[in-house]
Amino acid sequence: MKMKCPLCGDESLERKTGAFHFELPGKESGRENPEREMDFPDSEWDECGACGEVILSVELQKRIERRQYARKGILTPEEIKSIREKYSLTQARMAQILQVGEKNFSRWENGIAMQTKSMDSLIRQFEKRPEEFLKNEGGKQASDSVSSYLRTIESGKGGNVQALAAHGGIRGKKNRETLSRFIKDKL
Ligand SMILES: [Zn+2]
Repeated sequence: MKMKCPLCGDESLERKTGAFHFELPGKESGRENPEREMDFPDSEWDECGACGEVILSVELQKRIERRQYARKGILTPEEIKSIREKYSLTQARMAQILQVGEKNFSRWENGIAMQTKSMDSLIRQFEKRPEEFLKNEGGKQASDSVSSYLRTIESGKGGNVQALAAHGGIRGKKNRETLSRFIKDKL
């Protein structure tokens, strides 16, 4: 039974089964690609006899996609998601930790875009040693707290006048540093 082709409108769209042959562009990033041809046995797709349009089933699309990740040796979207969920992090939080935009991160996790090789190894490092990343994060948060604490003292509000006095005033870089260290020790 032939169906109407969504591209050319001809009633020449036919269901095909068997090994689907897939070819990547001849060159990738300017280099000759040695594994550009792939076969996917037991596949199902529609092909138009008139214009040659090929419509892949969702399952076949997924298979091709997974092969791309394997070929590049990078984490699949599902793997990225499971790493994030392993540590109960939101996409926003994970993006923050990796220092990338939240949109970028969600594109990788939804399989809309592929992460670069270097970003991929960063995610792998995070999975192995999350504490290293969270430590840096903590460091940043601590210094934010220090800044806001210093602002509070400088504005003369709250009961921090004594703390200020104890550290010899607020002017001057050295005093600021001393005070920062002092507060950091307390955090
Ligand atoms: Zn067609």
